[in-house]
This record gives sequence, structure tokens and C-alpha cells, in this order.
Amino acid sequence: MMDIENDPVALLPPLRDVIAAHDLAARKSLGQNFLLDLNLTRKIARAAKPFAAPTVIEIGPGPGGLTRALLLEGAEKVIAVERDERCLAALQDLQQAAGKRLTLHPGDALETAPADLAPPPWAIVANLPYNIATPLILGWLLAPVPPRRITVLVQKEVAERLAAKPGSDAYGRLSVIAGWCAEVRMLFDIGPKAFVPAPKVTSTVVELVPRDKPLAEAETAKLERITAAAFGQRRKMLRAALKSLWPDAEAKLQSLGIEPTRRAETLSIEEFCALARLL
Ligand code: SAM
Repeated sequence: MMDIENDPVALLPPLRDVIAAHDLAARKSLGQNFLLDLNLTRKIARAAKPFAAPTVIEIGPGPGGLTRALLLEGAEKVIAVERDERCLAALQDLQQAAGKRLTLHPGDALETAPADLAPPPWAIVANLPYNIATPLILGWLLAPVPPRRITVLVQKEVAERLAAKPGSDAYGRLSVIAGWCAEVRMLFDIGPKAFVPAPKVTSTVVELVPRDKPLAEAETAKLERITAAAFGQRRKMLRAALKSLWPDAEAKLQSLGIEPTRRAETLSIEEFCALARLL
């Protein structure tokens, strides 16, 4: 790795100048809330270290604050997927400075699997567009070959739902699926003022490390059906909430030793998997 002072990436103009030069007014429809403080983007990049794979995939580099940080923190190879052409133009100087260590991939991250970009293994590090954070994370976790580690900035509420344990208010469908396939940890919060423009909510860096195999045996589609039915009526007892799947829901629950008067938010992931196996 090159000394940071001598790294051409460190000598690039401040991000504010890049944004001004390219007239990068943030677009809400693209979930654009930019981080301009390199100390902060480097803190996020450091949270992903040691990088879990030589190839780091970043979704939505925007003007390049986190991309610069990943390169300065020693990522061997960064592939950045961006759909806003204005951002891609603004990233050209960074591309020049980084040379072969950076590949810019124009396109929609929802339609671009990591496997389309490079052979595995991959680490994913990103300040995600909030409007598509959940489908992106689920897509990565449920892929035949998931990334080695996902370190992403999302709305705090989404991070809480991803990491929630049974019995908590945030525990729901997303917690079950995420916890089934990965170990999830909330790392640290970032307040609205750090972003341009400032969002209304606090954000959290969350880490997901996909498990070698899911926590318990179940088919994804069946687990999704069970959790949709159970949490679709989360205030109801399970014997009522699961009636749409089984007219004899009470007997099915009893056959697994699950008290039919319990509510969805009290069930462990393993218990949801056992129900999915009965479907
Ligand atoms: N990484 C930059 C930062 O931290 O300042 C920008 C983060 S901003 C929250 C989200 C970025 O994702 C924007 O640059 C936006 O253009 C990009 N984006 C939004 N939707 C996208 C999509 N479907 N595919 C790829 N990039 C997308």
C-alpha cells in the first residue's frame, strides 16, 4: 500500500468543489444524501476492515467520499455501481487518481448482482440509497453465493429491524430473514447533519456477516410466507394470525410445542423455520 500522503487520491480537491464543479444538486428520487467529511467516510471504511475480500463493491459512490476512503484505507480493488450519470462524470478525476484499483460500473444496483461484476469473494461497503436499501440487502443475503461481509449505512430504523431479537418492538419479517442468514450488528450512528442535504432521520452503520449455512433448515419462500402471515397480524395470537395458511393452525402449532396463544414477536427464528417446514 502507498503512503497515504503520496496517494493521488488524497490530493484530489475537496468534495464540495467536486459537487459545485459538476452541479451535483442532490436528487431525492435517487436517495442522494452525500457525506462530504472524509474523516467520517474513513471511519465507515475502517469499520469494514480488515476487508473481508480483495474486491470491495460499493453501491452509489455519488461524488466519491466513501470511495476515496475505501481506497485510502487500502482496499485492493473497488467496484462502484452508480446509476446517476452526473455522478459518474464527477468521479472521473477519482478514476484517474485511483487507476486500476477503481472500476466504475454504470447501472442500476437492483439489477446488478455482485457476480455480474467480479468473481467471488466480495465485501460490500456502501452508504445505501435509503429507498432501496432493504431489497438490496435481502438480495445479497439470499443469493446462492452471498458476499463475505456487508457493511452499510442505512436508516437507523432499518438497522434496528435487521438486528432485532425476539420480544423487541423492531422484531419482524426483516429480522427473521436477516438473522436466519447472517449475524447482524449495529456499529454506530451518524446524525442527519453529517449529510448534504440532511435527511430527517438518524442513520446507522450496520454489519451483516452471512452464515456458512442458515440458522435452521427452511425454504426461503416458505419462511417468507410464514413470517408474512404471522407479522401481518402481529397483535393477534398465532392461532388466529396463521388461520390464512392452515384452518387447523392451533393443532399445527401444538404439534411443534408452540403455545397457540403466543404472538409472532415472541417466536425465535428456529421456531419460524419449524413452522415453515410444516407448510
Ligand atoms: N456514497 C455517496 C456518499 O456517501 O456520499 C453517496 C451515497 S447516496 C446515499 C446514494 C447513492 O446511490 C447516490 O449516489 C445515488 O445516485 C446512488 N443510487 C441510487 N439508486 C441507485 C441504484 N438503483 N443503483 C445504483 N446507484 C444508485
